[in-house]
Amino acid sequence: MTLTPPHRLLMGPGPISADPRVLRAMSAALVGQFDPVMTGYMNATQALYRQVFRTANEATVLVDGTARAAIEAAVVSLVEPGDRVLVPVFGRFGHLLVEIARRAGADVATVEAPWGQVVDPARVEEAVRAHRPKLVAVVQGDTSTTMCQPLAEIGEICARHDVLLYVDATASVVGNDLRTDDWGLDVVTVGLQKCLGGPSGSAPTTVSDRARAVIDDRKHVEQGLRTDDDEPTGTVIGSNYLDLAQILDYWGPRRLNHHTEATSMLYAAYECARIVLEDGLDATIERHRVAGAAMLAGVQGLGLTVFGDVAHKMHNVVAVEVPDAVVADAVRAAMLDDFAIEIGTSFGPLHGRVWRIGTMGYNARKDAVLTTLAALEHVLRAHGAAVPTGGGVAAALEVYAA
Ligand SMILES: *Cc1c(COP(=O)(O)O)cnc(C)c1O
Repeated sequence: MTLTPPHRLLMGPGPISADPRVLRAMSAALVGQFDPVMTGYMNATQALYRQVFRTANEATVLVDGTARAAIEAAVVSLVEPGDRVLVPVFGRFGHLLVEIARRAGADVATVEAPWGQVVDPARVEEAVRAHRPKLVAVVQGDTSTTMCQPLAEIGEICARHDVLLYVDATASVVGNDLRTDDWGLDVVTVGLQKCLGGPSGSAPTTVSDRARAVIDDRKHVEQGLRTDDDEPTGTVIGSNYLDLAQILDYWGPRRLNHHTEATSMLYAAYECARIVLEDGLDATIERHRVAGAAMLAGVQGLGLTVFGDVAHKMHNVVAVEVPDAVVADAVRAAMLDDFAIEIGTSFGPLHGRVWRIGTMGYNARKDAVLTTLAALEHVLRAHGAAVPTGGGVAAALEVYAA
């Protein structure tokens, strides 16, 4: 069977349709792992992602794997069995952080917000005082609820109490403001398949000097590359592949062999960052803001209700309540079958109750927004919902005209 995937417009919460430039970059010829051309590309990729993360962190690299690989690399490399971790939870990906930290042997406490809201930083500070964690681990944009957690204050709280701060910004990076250094974020990890406009499979990661010191103190004794006076005191990291100490040494000046860098994915990650930085980081965030505002106005123009606290919504995804007249999955199937447009379902408490519609990366585009709204109007009406004629497209166009 030849692979001939059909045309799709991916307007869900990710993955989204990759930018054609990224797909072209991925088809470029391979070079050897330690070819100076390849190590030059690695250095260039690091420099690009320092700009994307708004950081001066030397330790800015790719973890080979989907976003979850970098989340796990960060947590298992920072957390030793018995360490205390605090996780503000406001959706599915917060629960994932809890699970990964528990598997790493941490004593985990949570501060929870109802789905559709963000966590009040004052409650985070209270919990930091009570639980005295080594690490606060938090999601910035949780696609399961569309909420975007404000981080500046949590960064200040962590600095005040000398706590490390890890952030999963997979879904929010370059679609919403993210300031690694200004906000005091120690480790930030992302993926390509949301606003960066690439496929999943590479996870850009940045590590502050103080987090790096913690990780390096757990470096594998087996490597035998350390002198006695800087012998690590921490326990060995419980993963080889996701050992950030080794990954950082592979990307660092010593280029110690660990895995074989996923060359085609590096090309993809490189091109994703170049596209963003050519347009400008601020302009890219603004493009996501406008596309998100247009989609929000459009679904409201169709008479639909938006789920959650709209004031804290990520720019790049909206959760829409399913009208009583229709069956959620039947509408999604018709969008895909008749219009080749994918919109998202939801997890857990929201399954069958809301659709999630994304405007991310290459698809944070006027024509993609308008086409999706026109198709949705047609499908909703065909499935028995009363929707105003042209109401979605007209409202979105008003946002673009403003
Ligand atoms: C989409 C998303 C991920 C994706 O993880 P993968 O391993 O790439 O599937 C992780 N975290 C958040 C917050 C996301 O929205």
